[in-house]
Amino acid sequence: MGFVVAVDGPAGSGKGTITKIVAERLNLTTVDTGAMYRSVALECLNKNIKPTEIEKINEILKDIQIDLKRENGKQKVYLNGQDVTEKIRSKEVDDCVAKFAAIKEIRDKVTPIQRQMGENQNIIMEGRDIGTVVFPNADVKIFLDCSIEERANRRYKQNLEKGITTSYEEVLEGIKERHKLETEREVAPFVKADDAIYVDSTNMTIEEVSEKIIEIIEEKRKNK
Ligand code: C5P
Repeated sequence: MGFVVAVDGPAGSGKGTITKIVAERLNLTTVDTGAMYRSVALECLNKNIKPTEIEKINEILKDIQIDLKRENGKQKVYLNGQDVTEKIRSKEVDDCVAKFAAIKEIRDKVTPIQRQMGENQNIIMEGRDIGTVVFPNADVKIFLDCSIEERANRRYKQNLEKGITTSYEEVLEGIKERHKLETEREVAPFVKADDAIYVDSTNMTIEEVSEKIIEIIEEKRKNK
């Protein structure tokens, strides 16, 4: 088993950006588990499958291939051999991913793949259930929180940079809806693990949060 850092947090908490910075500094492999759920959701959208059509979902899960690869310093996501790095960030996927991620059959497929990734490498894995379900014995567990308004604000600004002009209110509504689905679902609900270290990023810069997390990890590594 490698050294495993679990980072759980809501959409817009800065998880993705911070995980990348920390991984580079500490030489850890990043694993974005949200990208895996997004890939499954994209495959269902492509095949016109709804979250209620469990039989059809089981069919696509049989031989779905999701690969996270690092190419030229960038994290790439492949779905059945096709580069879907950009497509999985579309509004269509944003709008339905939480519904697919609540399905037990999908989680049962994806969770073992994630566990395998921690077997022979040192990783920092980000998601919603990493410290609670995927790696309950992770070496370090971080729960990265942020107020819902600030998360919507960050997403709104990111969207503008990408040329997406959804209003702040719409972004806030979308985030609220996703949060409700994630925290209230029956399988692997999004909750803080009892032994996770709570970090609130609402009033912190990316650099401050990254430094804090690096300190926490280094402290644990010293004692391992
Ligand atoms: O982190 P990101 O927002 O990209 O995740 C996309 C979706 O995947 C989330 O809205 C959540 O529903 C789901 N997810 C999950 N468990 C994880 C990671 C993501 O349910 N470990």
